[in-house]
Amino acid sequence: MMASPQKRIYFDHSATTQVLPEVLEEMKPYFLEKFGNASSIHSYGREARTAMEGARRSVASLLNSDPKEIIFTSGGTESDNLAIKGVAMYKGRMKGHIITSRIEHHAIIEPCAYLKRFGFEVTEVPVSRDGIVNLEDVEKAIRDDTVLITIMTANNEMGAIQPIREIGKMARDSGIPFHTDAVQAVGKLPIDVKADNMDLLSISAHKFHGPKGVGALYVKTGTKIEAQIQGGGHERGLRSSTENVPGIVGMGKASEIARRDFDKTTAKMRALRDKMIKAVPDLVPRSYVNGHLVQRLVNNASFRFDFIEGEGLILSLDMKGIAASTGSACSTGSLEPSHVLLALGLTHEQAHGSLRITLGRENTEEEVDYFLNVLPDVVRKLREISPFSSERPMGAGEGGSCVQ
Ligand code: PLP
Repeated sequence: MMASPQKRIYFDHSATTQVLPEVLEEMKPYFLEKFGNASSIHSYGREARTAMEGARRSVASLLNSDPKEIIFTSGGTESDNLAIKGVAMYKGRMKGHIITSRIEHHAIIEPCAYLKRFGFEVTEVPVSRDGIVNLEDVEKAIRDDTVLITIMTANNEMGAIQPIREIGKMARDSGIPFHTDAVQAVGKLPIDVKADNMDLLSISAHKFHGPKGVGALYVKTGTKIEAQIQGGGHERGLRSSTENVPGIVGMGKASEIARRDFDKTTAKMRALRDKMIKAVPDLVPRSYVNGHLVQRLVNNASFRFDFIEGEGLILSLDMKGIAASTGSACSTGSLEPSHVLLALGLTHEQAHGSLRITLGRENTEEEVDYFLNVLPDVVRKLREISPFSSERPMGAGEGGSCVQ
C-alpha cells in the first residue's frame, strides 16, 4: 500500500476552488486603501470604478462578449435567477412556456418551479443514458408561447457537455431567448457567446479560482430582461446594490488567468481524468462511469459502484486524506438520490452509490495514483459491511466491470 501523502488531496473542484495567490493580491488593495464605492464621484470612487470596468473587460474577453453586456451579480445562483425570472416576467408577463432539461442545477430548477406557481408552464427535456440532451426533443418542445430556453453548458455532477451551439441556433431561428448556465464550463471549455448563439449566460467566480459570492450574467444587447433586485440602479439598472469591488476585481483576474492558462491546464486535467476513467472500472469490480466518456468536462470523473452507499465512500476517502463528493455539493445532506443520476436512467440504489471526482489545475499524477491505489480497498471494505452485497441479484456484467 502506498503511503498517504503529507498533504490532503482536493478532488472537489466543481464544489469550489481555491483563490489563486495572484487573484488575492489583485483584490487586497480594494479591501484596504482603495475601498471606495464605485458610484462615488471623488477619487476613491473613480479608482474603484476604473478597477471594476477593467474586470468587466476581462470577463467579457473570456466570453467573447462586449463589456457592456456583462452584469455583475453575487454568483451563479443569482445570475440564473435573474436570467430566468428577468426574461419570463418581462414587463409583468405572468404566463408563458419555458424549456429546460432534467439535469439542471437547483439554481435553474427552483426559479422555474417558482414561475410555475404564477402560471408559467415548464417542459423538462430528457437526456440520453450518457447524459446528453437530444436536439429533436428541444425542437419538439418549442411552442408558440415559449418565452425562454435554458439548458446548461455542462453538467456539474457527471460532466456531460450539451450541444448548446445547436440549441442556441434553434432558439435564435425561432426567435426565443436562449440562456445557458455555464458555471461549470469556465476554464474547462472555450466559451464564445457569439459563435454559440447565446442571449444569456451565467458564470460564478469561485468555480474558477476567483472569490466566492461574485458572478456575472452575460446579457446580449437587445435582450428583453427586467431587474429582479430594485434599488439604486447599479449595473445598468439590472442589479441594484453597491458593487462588490474586491470580488469583481478578483473575478476579473481569475478570468484573465483562465484564458491565459487554458491550454496548459485543460491538457493536464484531461490526461489525469482519462487515467482515472480508464483505470477505475478495471481496478474495482462492478464499477461504472457516469456520463458521456468523451463529451464531458476535462476535469470530471464520475463513477458509481454497486452495493455502495456514496456518503460512506466519501467519509472513507476523507479518512485517507481525499476530498471528493457524491453528486452535487448543494444537495449533500439530502436523502433523495440525485435527480441528475436518475435522469440517466439509474435506479435509486445505483444513484446512491456514486462518487464525483473533479480535478483542478494543481492536482498531480501522484495524487491520482494514490487515489487509484486506495480506492479498491476502500470499496471492498464498504461492501463487506453493505446489507445489499449478498442479497442483491447479480445482473448483467456480473462479476466484471463495465463502462457505460
Ligand atoms: N449552476 C451550476 C451548474 C453549479 O454547479 C452551481 C454551483 O454548484 C451553481 C449554478 C451555483 O453557483 P453559486 O454557488 O455561485 O451560486
